[in-house]
Amino acid sequence: MKTTILIIEDNQKNAYLVTFILEKFGYQVIHAQDGEAGIKQALQGKPDLILLDIQLPVLDGYSVARELKKNEEMRLIPIVAVTSYAMPGDRERILEVGCAGYLEKPINPATFISQIEQYLPANKRGTSLGRIP
Ligand code: MN
Repeated sequence: MKTTILIIEDNQKNAYLVTFILEKFGYQVIHAQDGEAGIKQALQGKPDLILLDIQLPVLDGYSVARELKKNEEMRLIPIVAVTSYAMPGDRERILEVGCAGYLEKPINPATFISQIEQYLPANKRGTSLGRIP
């Protein structure tokens, strides 16, 4: 079974790029364009990992993370914030709401996969799913 990654991102270009890279490495990708839709997709799609933009319509990324961490079924899914925020305190705030870590935008396609795979158990990484080196 393919590892599923949920992208919650309102910027179409970013979502497209991230989806393209993840699919290339054998991941199944689901995508939501706002915070509320993201929570719904998480509940329905039961992803193995969530990539979460912080600046989102309807519900921001902080609220999404807080909601998911309150849910018994969802709280163990690792959430990685993907954000262009560089304000002092943002990193702390991201971790405070329960994210496992964060990546800065713009993402670097060359290192993106290894960065996000740190947050997946070894048996769920693309490498073990028959990716071509
Ligand atoms: Mn955004």
